[in-house]
Amino acid sequence: MTISPLMPVYPRCEVRPVRGEGCYLYDEAGNQYLDFNSGIAVNALGHAHPELTKTIQDQAATLMHVSNLYGSPQGEKLAQKLVDISFADTVFFTNSGSEAIECAIKAMRAYHQAVGNDQCFEIITFSNAFHGRTLAAISASNQEKMHHGFHPLLNGFKYVEFDDLEAAKNAVGPQTAGFLVEPIQGEGGIRPASQEFMQGLRALADEHDILLALDEVQCGVGRTGAFYAYEHYDIVPDVLASAKGLGGGFPMGACLATEKAARGMTLGSHGSTYGGNPLAMAVGCMMVDTVGKPDFLSHVRIMGQKITQGLEQFIGNYPTLFESVRGQGLMLGIKMKVDSRAFVAHLRDNHNLLTVAAGDNVVRLLPPLIIDDSHIHDFMERLSAAAASYDVAVEG
Ligand SMILES: *Cc1c(COP(=O)(O)O)cnc(C)c1O
Repeated sequence: MTISPLMPVYPRCEVRPVRGEGCYLYDEAGNQYLDFNSGIAVNALGHAHPELTKTIQDQAATLMHVSNLYGSPQGEKLAQKLVDISFADTVFFTNSGSEAIECAIKAMRAYHQAVGNDQCFEIITFSNAFHGRTLAAISASNQEKMHHGFHPLLNGFKYVEFDDLEAAKNAVGPQTAGFLVEPIQGEGGIRPASQEFMQGLRALADEHDILLALDEVQCGVGRTGAFYAYEHYDIVPDVLASAKGLGGGFPMGACLATEKAARGMTLGSHGSTYGGNPLAMAVGCMMVDTVGKPDFLSHVRIMGQKITQGLEQFIGNYPTLFESVRGQGLMLGIKMKVDSRAFVAHLRDNHNLLTVAAGDNVVRLLPPLIIDDSHIHDFMERLSAAAASYDVAVEG
């Protein structure tokens, strides 16, 4: 037998973390890494956050899981918090981002069937989107590399160019159920949609009585300096998928919807064994209470501005390496002139700085939202040492 016990679907690197503290990770040999990846925008409060740990310990010792056949005071509490902090009227809890997307897609289809528009099942999605790895989620993305080996895909998705309002407008037809879009593409390369695009999609949805669903799995829960990224666009969606930072490292997600958009999600129409379990709900309440505070969100914006300004001054020193900086809050990307994957490996292997590569040749920076000036200083030191050594290596 040659297959590894761990199914070999990930190109895993040599770093093997076994412990974390705040913004740092430690491997088996005790080496320390500055974590500007945060489990891909998950560990919003860093690692081993005392309050988060205590929340999990206390709830685990009280009640971890019960069936969704019983009443859920814990679920009601978190749902109410999300309703209060967002556009939503109602929430379905999941265990992951893909499941939140799955619920969003089902809600969009079910809405049209509930109102008698049975022919409206097609969802318009955008180039280089990432919505997760279930069959519905890969079908919603135009990325061939995720489709390979898994055909036939789920029917009913139409792909158009991201941030191209005219293309979106032309794609709307009698079968359209709605749009599914990331306000800031994550895997696609930290590409923020323009104001015109997001506002235009909202107007198109209103005009055609179709739904606007947002994938805020990566950009939501404080990552951009607003609780949800749609707030930057002066619009509200009909449906929104949330996960990643919502659990701060505990697996959970949520599909948020307006009363109107949830019309088809009736008794018995959807479910999940683990979704909404009391342990996840306790974590979610703690996360929303912490991240949703105005001071916390303004901290994210300030830290984001400091990194952005620092980077903008810095990258000019290495015009052969770096092209530009983009993103919002602490969801940032450096567009590279050299291969971004190779540079991410260099930062990691030679300077113990963890970042993530993304599409469009971008190095993604997703630090814990609790970083302070000292972490930014540490980051800039490691980055500048890495740039200096890379430049020499490339030119030599
Ligand atoms: C990570 C991600 C998902 C999928 O979430 P999982 O928890 O991995 O299923 C979906 N959409 C976006 C934008 C993501 O970044």
